[in-house]
Amino acid sequence: MTRVFSGIKPTGHLTLGNYLGAMRRWAEVDQYRADALFCVVDLHALTVDHDPARVRRLSRQAATLLLASGLDPERCTLFVQSHVDEHARLSYLLECVATDGEMRRMIQYKEKAAREQRRGGSLRLSLLTYPVLMAADILAYRTDEVPVGDDQTQHVELARDLAVRFNHRYGHTFTVPRATPPAVAARVMNLQDPASKMGKSEDVGPGIVYLLDEPDVVRRKVMRAVTDSGREVVYDRESRPGVANLLEILAACSGGNPEELAGVYESYGALKKDTAEAVVEVLRPVQQRHRELCADPGYVEGVLREGARRAREMARPVVDAAYRAIGLLPSN
Ligand code: ATP
Ligand code: MG
Repeated sequence: MTRVFSGIKPTGHLTLGNYLGAMRRWAEVDQYRADALFCVVDLHALTVDHDPARVRRLSRQAATLLLASGLDPERCTLFVQSHVDEHARLSYLLECVATDGEMRRMIQYKEKAAREQRRGGSLRLSLLTYPVLMAADILAYRTDEVPVGDDQTQHVELARDLAVRFNHRYGHTFTVPRATPPAVAARVMNLQDPASKMGKSEDVGPGIVYLLDEPDVVRRKVMRAVTDSGREVVYDRESRPGVANLLEILAACSGGNPEELAGVYESYGALKKDTAEAVVEVLRPVQQRHRELCADPGYVEGVLREGARRAREMARPVVDAAYRAIGLLPSN
């Protein structure tokens, strides 16, 4: 059976981008068709300036929202990265396979490093090595497919390269994974700045729709989205990025496709109104289930405990095999 692994960082409140680009498919498709693991990758949240209490709170919230979005612990394994030591163990071995040059070429490193510097902070070494830990997350489970948004494909490429290199040098140990971005909404853009991605760790802005935004907040944000100077509704990511973003969000939420939807609308106002309602409807059941789950924190903890137990069981033999292959003396 196909093994699927994917994760989400507790670096901020989850966004519509996270949902349409990743989480929704995990719940609606992946957990049914594959042997799937989903992870709150909390170690990754420590790569930038962080508040310990906030990371803890956001980790619990991310796990709760993943369940609210439809992950079923009977059908998939949901766990927290730091509960499974194998990720950090394997990451070190992969640091011995990756190169400094490879890390510095990562687009996300360049972007996040520039942002940290603008904020006046110093750069954590872990921000540079983060893609290696992500490769460990993936390779520890002999993952075949990694359902992620567009922004993560370069990191999955690195995981592939490291798997191939390790296997070549030290003997076949890892499955070579591949990224599987969604057909629409692979990169939801910021409503106020359609040139940049809607990201949860961006400074709180009116251009980001959060999964827990009240319906009226969603409507206001969508109605105020920046559109382009033309008047006609056309789907063109290059010259009309604001309108293209709305069409993609609408398509992802209502099941249509962006080109066809462009032909249906005569004004930006009507497009925004329908997009806002479509988003509100997609979020409604997630928010409802989230409220129910918040009333039962013991349930969420139990799911994470059992998820970590299962994940450990899967990862340990793989990471032990990597330890032996690379030349470390077995402890028993
Ligand atoms: P951060 O700003 O901390 O990097 P993020 O919003 O990018 O946060 P991640 O935890 O890095 O979220 O990514 C979780 C998943 O959501 C990944 O699969 C990623 O590709 C996807 N994703 C994130 N942002 C978007 C977006 N704007 N559109 C589509 N998918 C997205
Ligand atoms: Mg990200």
